[in-house]
Amino acid sequence: MAATADTVSLKLVIDRKSQRVLFAEADKEFVDFLFSIFTLPVGTVTRLLKEDGSGGMVGCLPSLYRSIENLSSDYIQPSIDKRFLLRPKIIMPGAKPPLLLPDVGSTFRQLYGCSCGGSDGIDGNDGSGSTRVADDYRTICPKCDYKMDGSVTLVDPLGEVEVSFWGEEGYVKGTVTYMVMDDLKVKPMSTASVVTLFTRFNVNFNEIGAIEEKMVEFGMDDGVKLLRASLQSKTVLTDVFLSGSKK
Ligand SMILES: [Zn+2]
Repeated sequence: MAATADTVSLKLVIDRKSQRVLFAEADKEFVDFLFSIFTLPVGTVTRLLKEDGSGGMVGCLPSLYRSIENLSSDYIQPSIDKRFLLRPKIIMPGAKPPLLLPDVGSTFRQLYGCSCGGSDGIDGNDGSGSTRVADDYRTICPKCDYKMDGSVTLVDPLGEVEVSFWGEEGYVKGTVTYMVMDDLKVKPMSTASVVTLFTRFNVNFNEIGAIEEKMVEFGMDDGVKLLRASLQSKTVLTDVFLSGSKK
């Protein structure tokens, strides 16, 4: 089953008796999505859960969010746009936009520069020594009018690694199949861990049909559901894919 750009395929292994997902077999794309949850600003998480119409997020963050929305710009610093707080950008080497969440497209993983403003005095250097960078290579530099499409290297604060923005996207290697548990523990798939899991959940191999394998397409709606469930539940895959049939 081929995944489209907006979905990824997952193989669920379901214990039919207890109607719960024992684990999912997943490729890099799904694991990258799960890992990318940690790059999401709290403001983004609050907005996504607020907008998905299933009752918002627990706790006080939604009312804090609304306070910022409702506060007149008269009270906000002139150089600050409220979007910085309500729709923050994620600046993360290797980060790709979490495609399985709606409208988080402001995420970026590459910075671009032009050659003005540096110490080399090219084109319109205003002598301030400040260097301009942009997160979109189509940006035109307001100072020198050239496209800001030069690559910029981010140096790790420890000075040990120059972080490259190029290479395979995402976080984990693509040659491996991963095992994602119902509580979102993630590890490389192995026969030993499958057997251990079946034993732990008392799965009876002799019983025909005790285990069901099911291919599912995981899309954006599921992305938001999973994000919500991951904050509230220990049986996230069951909640997302089998909800209604249990609890
Ligand atoms: Zn410039």
